[in-house]
Amino acid sequence: MNALVVATGNRGKLAEIRDLLRNDIQRIYSLADFPGLPSVVEDGATFAENAVKKATQIAQAVEMPVLADDSGLVVDALGGEPGVFSARYAGEGATDAENNEKLLRALRDVPEGCRDAAFRCVVALCLPDGSCTTFEGELRGEIGVTFKGGSGFGYDPLFVVPAYGKTLAEMSLDVKNGISHRAQAMGKFLDFMRTM
Ligand code: IMP
Repeated sequence: MNALVVATGNRGKLAEIRDLLRNDIQRIYSLADFPGLPSVVEDGATFAENAVKKATQIAQAVEMPVLADDSGLVVDALGGEPGVFSARYAGEGATDAENNEKLLRALRDVPEGCRDAAFRCVVALCLPDGSCTTFEGELRGEIGVTFKGGSGFGYDPLFVVPAYGKTLAEMSLDVKNGISHRAQAMGKFLDFMRTM
């Protein structure tokens, strides 16, 4: 595949996806290259539903293959929240800082050792004819009690990966892209592409 549109307006995600695809896809476009596209309402009950909805609608509009990632944080002690609401956990239009503060408040009575969580990602590849294939990835970890690190985006400063003893925000892009939920889903997507 020579050209692909990545359907995200999230700059952190886009940077990671561009890096993961850099050796395999010659031209990577983003939504910024197609001004005036209708916005897609992410009202699905699952990451897969949202990813497929985004990629299908954009593929029809731009008439090119489209890749969409829907991802989020699932916290065991919160019954799986914030889940599909991760981007707007503290309300519509919330900043990463507001979402992180709300997460820390929600977990203030949950002791270390009981703060297990996972990042999940579903990547959907959809073609203009409406056909879609999905790929999934998961990274397990724990929610820290304080913010650590300045890299990445979203909940990265609170997400501790036990095997590394660090949050994702304390890792370089290369290291995060070696282990993340998004990297795992994109790895499956690239394996699929190589068989086409
Ligand atoms: P989406 O655009 O609906 O898929 O929202 C994904 C949201 O989940 C982001 O805005 C972040 O809050 C969170 N998220 C997903 N992946 C990551 C990640 O790799 N690091 C930190 N936060 C993430």
